[in-house]
Amino acid sequence: MKFDTIVVATRNVHKVEEIRAMLAGLPVAVKDLREFPDCPEVEEDGETLEENALKKARVAFQCTGLPVIADDTGLEVYYLLGAPGVYSARYAGEDATYADNNRKLLKAMTQVPARRRQARFRCVVALVSRSGEQLFEGKVEGDILRETRGANGFGYDPVFRPDGFRESYAELAAELKNSVSHRARAIEAFLSFLKS
Ligand code: IMP
Repeated sequence: MKFDTIVVATRNVHKVEEIRAMLAGLPVAVKDLREFPDCPEVEEDGETLEENALKKARVAFQCTGLPVIADDTGLEVYYLLGAPGVYSARYAGEDATYADNNRKLLKAMTQVPARRRQARFRCVVALVSRSGEQLFEGKVEGDILRETRGANGFGYDPVFRPDGFRESYAELAAELKNSVSHRARAIEAFLSFLKS
């Protein structure tokens, strides 16, 4: 499959930066929704990451007429039976900040011993173009720390330590997070699809 241009359907600056860095080698112009101010905001009211990613990509495709990728990501904590999952953005309430969500998560995990602190990030990337729709997934296992650590990244990065690292995502340099993260894995699956 060949595209001249691809739109990343998000206005989240952190995500745009990460995805742009991952697509840097591609001989394709990368745009994001900040360049299409008339595209409507999408309510992420799906019950799964897949539904939300597809909804965001479909709306942006309709509005731009260009091939679009959209991601939806959730932090799934096993002790919390997969929460906050698809509700990660509003775990601590509708207008919750990243700090509010991290505080609520650390509180919910206060009494939880080390061996039961496993969690995973799951990222679903939806591609919508004139040729149809595809979904790609990337997962990274790790655990929930006892306090926030590090200042890089965004969201739950300061409370998540990926397996194989001593550092939290927020303590890793951006290039390193972008080469090992759940989003990197989903984008890699998308890139192999493009090459196939
Ligand atoms: P979204 O619905 O995909 O935008 O993401 C839901 C929430 O998950 C965001 O508000 C962030 O708190 C969190 N999130 C998404 N991606 C990441 C990431 O790469 N690191 C940490 N948190 C993330």
